[in-house]
Amino acid sequence: ATPTALLVGTGRGAQLGILIKGPEVLESTRRVDTVVLDKTGTVTTGKMTLIEVITEPGVDRAELLRYAGALEDASEHPIAQAIAAGATQEVGVLPTPEDFANIEGKGVQGVVEGTGVVIGRESLLADWSQYLSAEVSSAKARAEGQGKTVVAIGWDGSARGILVVADTVKPTSAEAIAGLKDLGLAPVLLTGDNEAVARQIAAEVGIDQIIAEVLPQEKIDVIARLQQDGKMVAMVGDGVNDAPALAQADLGLAMGTGTDVAIEAADITLVRGDLRSAVDAIRLSRKTLGTIK
Ligand code: ADP
Ligand code: MG
Repeated sequence: ATPTALLVGTGRGAQLGILIKGPEVLESTRRVDTVVLDKTGTVTTGKMTLIEVITEPGVDRAELLRYAGALEDASEHPIAQAIAAGATQEVGVLPTPEDFANIEGKGVQGVVEGTGVVIGRESLLADWSQYLSAEVSSAKARAEGQGKTVVAIGWDGSARGILVVADTVKPTSAEAIAGLKDLGLAPVLLTGDNEAVARQIAAEVGIDQIIAEVLPQEKIDVIARLQQDGKMVAMVGDGVNDAPALAQADLGLAMGTGTDVAIEAADITLVRGDLRSAVDAIRLSRKTLGTIK
């Protein structure tokens, strides 16, 4: 490829809202055969709302919301923001936690009004020997089967209930996935969320392959494993926890609406935060390099 052609390609990219770090990036873009997509904030809007609260018997709903809201107000996770907003709406001003810790990819824990509270994946509560009742557990499975995200909350040694939040697929995601498939690329959905949610979202947008329940530090291993299997992997992500995987991938694409850390780790920034730009980027690189070979 001539330097001029590559420069024209990157310039055309900028017009399309595709910021390419260097002309050499176009070469890896052209050779990609697998596209790994982060779920939250990439395929979905990442804007969740609290839609349901289910308490264990004897638990006061307002108390659960006060504890949950107080703790999640200190977290920046989309799930946390949905819970804090929903709690504020229902119970008003939330107390400030005396202690707070984020447990990456699992949830949060802290102290609210002198009580130790934990919120997150069921497995996180299990680490504290807190277990949901069979009834609440099956309500959780039902909601997850419908593609909703469910987190559990516990305090004082017991699981106290669940909070159901829902995220929505971006209106352009299905079209983008279809475009990737048209280019002969295999889309793969990658998420820390559970398998049922992943399957539901994947079905909505037309992705056949999912890799779910992946811890943030394991996302990079998933990419490496695909590469060991001989794949040329592109990764599209937005979050802080996607950055190592974006760097590991043969081609990293960050949503322009995402975090700075992800944008820095990526080779390409999709300025509009629109997944269809990923399709445009690959089409552009094929055209740019194809015409000069
Ligand atoms: P994703 O890969 O889809 O962006 P994360 O890796 O950030 O998701 O989180 C994985 C899971 O950990 C979430 O689905 C949720 O169950 C739990 N989790 C993470 N952060 C929080 C939080 N602040 N509050 C409750 N649950 C959380
Ligand atoms: Mg994400």
